[in-house]
Amino acid sequence: MNILFASQIEPAERWIPLLERALPEDRFFTESKSAIDIGLVATPPPGALEKLNGAKLIQSLWMGVEKLLADPALPRNVPLARLIDPGMVAAMTETVLVHTLDWHRRLYRYRQQQSEARWHRFRQYMTSDHTVGLLGLGELGTDAARKLLALGFKIAGWSRRPKNLDGVESFTDISSVLAKSDVVVCLLPLTPQTKGILNLANLQKVKKGGGLINVARGPHVVVPDLIAALDSGHLAHAYLDVFDTEPLPADSPLWRHPRVTVTPHAAALTEPRTAVAKIAEQVERVRRGETPRNLVDFSAGY
Ligand code: NAP
Repeated sequence: MNILFASQIEPAERWIPLLERALPEDRFFTESKSAIDIGLVATPPPGALEKLNGAKLIQSLWMGVEKLLADPALPRNVPLARLIDPGMVAAMTETVLVHTLDWHRRLYRYRQQQSEARWHRFRQYMTSDHTVGLLGLGELGTDAARKLLALGFKIAGWSRRPKNLDGVESFTDISSVLAKSDVVVCLLPLTPQTKGILNLANLQKVKKGGGLINVARGPHVVVPDLIAALDSGHLAHAYLDVFDTEPLPADSPLWRHPRVTVTPHAAALTEPRTAVAKIAEQVERVRRGETPRNLVDFSAGY
């Protein structure tokens, strides 16, 4: 089959040798041409999506597909699949664990104290004293839940449809989750329903002194509302990996806010060494005439 690799961000020279090794009977292109069977896309160059009209599959190289869905050039008659990359899922859970533990062990406060040469020990909590609220119980939320549970945290989770996950108290209304949460982790897709979900009214439902970890998309958070919740002391710390504008502009108050930790959209990157096997499985499914996995529901927006 003819496979187009179309990305302005993912390095073709890193991916294509691995893809060629995994799929020796297929041909890979980086320039748009006609008769493409499968497109592998992540921020495709202008004109590439139009060339995929008539393809059998558009396979995203990323988990989030909101930008592709918003692109008028995306052919709506071609199935679109998200990439569920085990390397990326593992990386995301590591990030969730490290920030959750940073908040739980009060390391953000000890860093502040060190900058003031101040020696003061805070009260210790057990993981079972704290509930982590997971907004989103999909691929990422489920893996994070499993590993947070292994550490002993209590987990409350929010999903659109009811979920039955071992050890997770799950809800379809956000207020119940937030009211139970000491730390909230956003692992939602960005859709019209989830944009701005972390607004002042919702942030104030989190337990006082709580933490926020946003590793999903910037527009989930209403930044002035978050700053108000931090300044009032309602929230103790926010860990932000994603922003409305990326790179985060130098004049953003988030860079220098004493209660904010900023990372440069680095919570989890696609890991070609583990992703290529998943892409190869998808290509083989298309070759056999089977339905690819992880198809995007265009009406739900994820
Ligand atoms: P997923 O498997 O599609 O799971 C999404 C979860 O969100 C599901 O549990 C879904 O509910 C829930 N949800 C969606 N809309 C909702 C709504 N309106 N109300 C309540 N719950 C809702 O997605 P994923 O693979 O876990 O990835 C989640 C997001 O993480 C991606 O879309 C991407 O934007 C982001 N991400 C960020 C990075 C980074 O580096 N910062 C890396 C990878 C991914 P149902 O279970 O009922 O469908």
